[in-house]
Amino acid sequence: MTDARSSPDTESDTLGIDPASEVQIPDGAETYACDHCGRVFARERYRDLHRGREHPAAVDESEADAYRAAAQSEWDDLRRYRYVALGTLVVLYFGFLLAYAFVGA
Ligand SMILES: [Zn+2]
Repeated sequence: MTDARSSPDTESDTLGIDPASEVQIPDGAETYACDHCGRVFARERYRDLHRGREHPAAVDESEADAYRAAAQSEWDDLRRYRYVALGTLVVLYFGFLLAYAFVGA
């Protein structure tokens, strides 16, 4: 296991997470570090989103492009999640409605 210290940031502070807590990274795991603050991320997309949101004035054009692509990808994932959640609620609603119509009567 490799130890890495997470850097302090406002998001962690608001969540009540100790910013000085250590993070355990499994050996051989690929990580992505922020060039500006050293914070380590498990996925490249998370690092790109972090850079664009936490260091907007310090990112260069390629990092800004990566941020925009990551933000669009995140937005697409959120949209997909909303459709799946809505579909699940509709199926549950009509499932209970039909169950009540045939079983509860
Ligand atoms: Zn950073």
